Amino acid sequence: MSQKTRIKRMLETGPVCGTALLDERMPRYAARIAELRGEGMPIVTRRCESHRHASKQYEYVLDTEQMRLRRAIELIDENTDVVYDYSLVGLF
Ligand SMILES: [Zn+2]
Repeated sequence: MSQKTRIKRMLETGPVCGTALLDERMPRYAARIAELRGEGMPIVTRRCESHRHASKQYEYVLDTEQMRLRRAIELIDENTDVVYDYSLVGLF
């Protein structure tokens, strides 16, 4: 499994701390995060809330509100297509 896929799976289960990615031997995790963002994954960076670090550390978390909105739009699009098809059938 690629590092990108591993990070994606980790994000899908909750916030992912940068130190956790280092522990997973992914020193270039920031580049992988950037790639995932480039593919449209809404990843937010925030101060780590998962651990009590002595220094400032950051974690990555999926913007679930953004994901919900996108899913809602997808559903509307799907439903719109169905309505549109039915109206065509009714016309002819
Ligand atoms: Zn942390």
